[in-house]
Amino acid sequence: MKFTELGLNESLLKAVKEQGYTEPTPIQAQAIPVVIEGRDVLAAAQTGTGKTAGFTLPLLERLSETKPQMKKKQIRVLVLTPTRELAAQVADSIATYGKYMSYKSMVIFGGVGINPQFAAIKKGMDIVIATPGRLLDIASQDGIDFSAVETLVLDEADRMLDMGFINDIKKLMAMMSKKKQTLLFSATFSKEIKALASGLLKDPVLVEVARENSTAGKISQVVYPVDKSRKRELLAQLIKTNDWKQVLVFTRTKHGANKVCKQLEEYSGIKAAAIHGNKSQGARTKALADFKEGRVRVLVATDIAARGIDIDQLPHVVNFELPNVPEDYVHRIGRTGRAGMKGEAVSLVCIDEHDLLKAIERFTKSNIKKVDLEAFRPDPSIEAEPIQNGRGGGKRGGGQRNGNRNGNGNGGRANSRNKKPSKNKPANNKPENDKTPTEKKKKPRNPHAEKIGSNLQAKLDKLDKKSNRRK
Ligand code: AMP
Repeated sequence: MKFTELGLNESLLKAVKEQGYTEPTPIQAQAIPVVIEGRDVLAAAQTGTGKTAGFTLPLLERLSETKPQMKKKQIRVLVLTPTRELAAQVADSIATYGKYMSYKSMVIFGGVGINPQFAAIKKGMDIVIATPGRLLDIASQDGIDFSAVETLVLDEADRMLDMGFINDIKKLMAMMSKKKQTLLFSATFSKEIKALASGLLKDPVLVEVARENSTAGKISQVVYPVDKSRKRELLAQLIKTNDWKQVLVFTRTKHGANKVCKQLEEYSGIKAAAIHGNKSQGARTKALADFKEGRVRVLVATDIAARGIDIDQLPHVVNFELPNVPEDYVHRIGRTGRAGMKGEAVSLVCIDEHDLLKAIERFTKSNIKKVDLEAFRPDPSIEAEPIQNGRGGGKRGGGQRNGNRNGNGNGGRANSRNKKPSKNKPANNKPENDKTPTEKKKKPRNPHAEKIGSNLQAKLDKLDKKSNRRK
């Protein structure tokens, strides 16, 4: 299959060619023609499959085909995303592929001033890419008119629901015409997603592709057993001895991200930046740009902040701490080995995390290679301490128990380790929650209130089975 066979105009083909893409990815080959046709699409696809171009290219094509008279505050295409980073990334894709077309687009998210956003939409927009919370703020103040929306895209719909956006999404949907085209992208198909899809999609075309870079594929994975107090030292050594130029490091908490970042700079002279929900939008954008352009070598991120980060050819991902949820491991390591490149995922695993590691191995049906580094061999006298599980639970003492709390940078060995669980959880040592106060909403009590049409239900079940088989 060639890009020229998909029904895209010359301007789009020229822009695609400049990106150096030789052929469409499977999701692009399946989605682009049907989106151009105007069909609804239900797609099972994760990041890394080329899904962004899979919807931005045909949307730009459709926009170029008609030129309706727009009224004030009206928009033609709305893309909803769970995070600001993903919104910015979609906007970048649109700018890349639409560079030889004329259209107006803008990004709307929280954490930045709202007034410039009101002012910009006032003139009307072809494409708006938004996170649900801020968009609803604007809509409820009559700042946007959805009556002319031709296409709605829900990108990473499962993440949006995970983050509690269902009510915001429903309120936004209620303001839009039922006639529009809807595209729903989701990596998983929970009951909530099925309920949402059934209320939104009309006879959708199912598009499903296995992630090209499954955990067993182009990503090599390795575990280094190490004491918690020596992780920072080991990380610095790995970066220096292997001469890693660009490393994405994951921590479980915002506090942990700041700490790793500070320690890498102070004790090892390695330039690092942290990215998480407590950082201002400006700081997050700058950190990402500095990382992409090589001004900082290490980007330390929490799971939520890292969603939507798209860096071509990112070679190394390090799990400084394993995630509580095995799916997050797959999402994390999927940041490397993208678009056919090779990648390496390294996990620094202390004794507390052995159960998490087992759960990850069960989930990915793999036995991850363990490398015993003599200089960092764990102290056998250290006993495991419990880690609170679940996204909602803070990690007891995760930052506190780090031996580097002595500030000597050597980490020290086990002797300073708590034997009993500490009750003094640091206030900011919470799992990431990426919502601004206005975006924070309670989860719905009964997310399955809507009835699911039998036809769509069958299609959803089919996708469900397939995605379960992939697991
Ligand atoms: P996505 O799944 O949209 O996050 O895209 C993952 C990565 O694949 C991005 O870095 C894109 O630039 C890249 N990409 C998208 N389409 C293609 C293609 N047809 N060939 C090669 N790389 C692509």
